[in-house]
Parts: sequence; structure tokens; C-alpha cells
Amino acid sequence: MHQMTLAEIARGLADKKFSSEELTKVLLARISQLDPQLNSFISLTEELALEQAKAADVRRANGESGALLGAPIAHKDLFCTQGIRTSCGSKMLDNFKAPYDATVVSKLAAAGTVTLGKTNMDEFAMGSANESSWYGAVKNPWNLEHVPGGSSGGSAAAVAARLLPAATATDTGGSIRQPAAFTNLTGLKPTYGRVSRWGMIAYASSLDQGGPLARTAEDCAILLQGMAGFDPNDSTSIDEPVPDYAAGLNGSLQGLRIGVPKEYFGAGLDPRIADLIQNSIKELQKLGAVIKEISLPNMQHAIPAYYVIAPAEASSNLSRFDGVRFGHRCEDPKNLEDLYKRSRGEGFGAEVQRRIMVGAYALSAGYYDAYYLKAQKIRRLVKNDFMAAFNEVDIILGPTTPNPAWKLGAKNSDPVAAYLEDVYTITANLAGLPGLSMPAGFVDGLPVGVQLLAPYFQEGRLLNVAHQYQLNTDWHTRTPTGF
Ligand code: GLN
Repeated sequence: MHQMTLAEIARGLADKKFSSEELTKVLLARISQLDPQLNSFISLTEELALEQAKAADVRRANGESGALLGAPIAHKDLFCTQGIRTSCGSKMLDNFKAPYDATVVSKLAAAGTVTLGKTNMDEFAMGSANESSWYGAVKNPWNLEHVPGGSSGGSAAAVAARLLPAATATDTGGSIRQPAAFTNLTGLKPTYGRVSRWGMIAYASSLDQGGPLARTAEDCAILLQGMAGFDPNDSTSIDEPVPDYAAGLNGSLQGLRIGVPKEYFGAGLDPRIADLIQNSIKELQKLGAVIKEISLPNMQHAIPAYYVIAPAEASSNLSRFDGVRFGHRCEDPKNLEDLYKRSRGEGFGAEVQRRIMVGAYALSAGYYDAYYLKAQKIRRLVKNDFMAAFNEVDIILGPTTPNPAWKLGAKNSDPVAAYLEDVYTITANLAGLPGLSMPAGFVDGLPVGVQLLAPYFQEGRLLNVAHQYQLNTDWHTRTPTGF
């Protein structure tokens, strides 16, 4: 039962092969049996799950239908869930029970999803290895000595290990696509503004975007359908109609123009990954796609620009955690300044503190022009590169990551080494474009992802290409041994 995709679950529930309650019990038992090896959950919500499953079964018995009605999922622990701990992977929010549901959470609940729990993540979504969580590192089900990627590592590990069919995640610089690549999943970062950020704890507000992590493009289409749409509570949410993503999966790829940036294949890319990307290009050519070499000349400046802009926004967003209103408060503060200093010093981990300091420095008078303003100018150049490329091609294809999942602890002493691994993903966030990662093969038994990028609001095109690819390849069906 645990092997089923969201699409298979929807069919099984519609055909009354099993109930949502039965399925939920199977998955909860599987989580309690297997998750101790992975540490992919911060909180389990068994009672809520059983309540929601029973309610979904009643709705189906009353004649309602819907692809998500009775579907078990989990939420990354930065989506606020009313009355349930929403920790953001931080000691700072270990005691925080959200007073309301994030829009994504309430939309999915209304569609009938069953929340099994809240998944582990890098603290405040800062990281690419899920090692900065206050709740401990998450292990990669493909090799327990390796990281699952981050910051949505808990969602990725849980779905890859078949503890549940799909989960929500967020992507500020790659945190949906990179863990998808590291754990053999399909993950989609939507266009900025497609999915509401209301109730999603902010890391870098101009880059953050929620999206689905699942095993197939078809399942990403189903989950995205439940997440996307205009939200008056989010001032950057965009009032554009949401297409029927599942209906668009079967379009032909005949004549699809795929751009392959020459800058993607430079030094730093594992040559074995380069080979797998070439194979996926050949596969898409067989389906009728036409390949064109393109150039993204400003790509080399994207990492430095991102690692100024993201920390700058984080330093501002995280100032609300001051020990006064919510979150961790130190014992016996001597005065207000002591309260701020010790509450923040004790509540935030090393990576979060590093980013707050970098961000505050980059925004400070005298340095603002040299760092923040400059980074914003680079951001525009990165966007312009994409706009020029999309005049010539329909999608852009390349590796999701330069290397497969590294060993736990391998990059802990050198944060910049981890930042460099984001080279292929962060440009989409800087430009606000949608991007998808899908399974493309294995290197040393570890999964490799191929990334597709599309123009604004063309999530449907990404899902269509990925679905056609998955109808003709079987990488996404591989299961990690032991799970
Ligand atoms: N690795 C990037 C960072 O640490 C991206 C994280 C994310 O997308 N949340 O900022």
C-alpha cells in the first residue's frame, strides 16, 4: 500500500479498494517503524490525521470526489499549522504553536488531504544538507551516511522512503529541487507568486516559494493544483488563473525547443552527472524535442548575489524573534538588551547567526551600495539572461546539482563549499522563474536530478515535459533498499 503514488491512491479511494483511514494507519505505522533511521519528521500528528482521514471517507461516501480527498501528506515545518508546533527546525520556535494555518495548509486541508506530520528541515530553511536543524540531521534513504539535501530534507527523505506519497516544501535557492535530486524525487518550485506565502515562515521573502515534492510529475501536478492560486493575504501573490495541471500532462513534445546553457557544463560538474544529463537530452530528442545551445553569461555572478540578498532579507525577517512576543526566551534577563542578546544567542544556531550577521552587515550604511544594491543589479542581469534565452527556446535543461549527495558532515567546516553546490538552482529564484527537478539516473548508487526551467507561469509545461519523460524512463520508479 505504501508504494502507491498520489494518482494511484486517488484511483484506489474512488474505486473503494481501501479507505483513507486504512491507508493512514498503514503509513503511520510505517513512519513509527522506519523513521528512527531517517529523522525526517519533527512532529507527528496522528490524531489529526485519523480525524481528517475519517472526514475524507465520509465526504467520499457522500458522493464527493477529488484527487486529494483522503490523500496523506506532510508539511515542511515552516508552514504554520494551527495549534501544532511549527518549529522551522529551530530551538527558537521549539515551543511555538501557530495560532493559524498557512494558506497552503488550509487550501490542502479543504481539498481533503490528511496531515501525517511536520517534516524536518534546515534551521529557518538555511542550508542544502538538512544538517543545520536543531532536531538533528536527516539521513538519505539511498545511503544513510549521506545527506538528503536541504533545506526540505525531511520532506524529501520521507517521500523517497515511501513513508508517504508526497509532501509540501519550499525553495528559496533550491530547497525543493536539490533534495528532490538527492533522493530520486520530482520537485517543483513554482513561479514566484503562484503559491501563497501567507503563514510560511519567511527566510528571504523575495525568493521564497512553496511547492510540491513527490515521486512523479503527475503527483506534483496533483499537489500543486491544491496549493496554487491567488491569496489576498499575500501581497506578492499573483491573481492569475490556475490551469488544470493534470489535463496538460499529455501534450506532445514534438518540436519543443530545449535550451542547454553552455555555462552549465564547465569545471565543477561531476562528469558522470554530465553524462546522465546527455542521456536525458537524448531521451527528450526521441520524443520530438529540438536541442539548442544557449548562453546565460551572468550565471557566474549568481551565487555571490544570492548570498548577499538572501541573508540581507533574512536578517530583517528574523528580527521578529526577540524573546518578547513568541519563541525562545532566556532565563532571568537582566535588562531588555540582555533579553534580546541571550534569547537570540541561545535560540538561533550557528548558520542562522552567520547569515543574520552577513545580512545586517550588507545592509548597513556605507556598505549597502557596495553589496546589497550591487547584488540587486546582478539579479536583474540574471533575469535578463533568461528573458533573452526564452525568446529562443521553450525550456532550459541542465543538471540540478554539480555533485550527488555528499557524506554527512563533509561540508560542515566550510559553509562556502556548501553554498557553491547551489550553482544551478539559485538563478531561478533570483529571476522568479519556475523550475523542476526529476530523476535522471545514479552515480555510485546515489540519485542524480535533471533540472528544467520555464518562463513565468509555465509550470504546466515543466510538468508536461517531465511526465512524458517519466512515461519513457524508469529512474523515478527505483526504490531505496530497505524501504
Ligand atoms: N541552500 C540555499 C540556502 O542555504 C537554499 C535554501 C533554500 O532554498 N531554502 O540559502
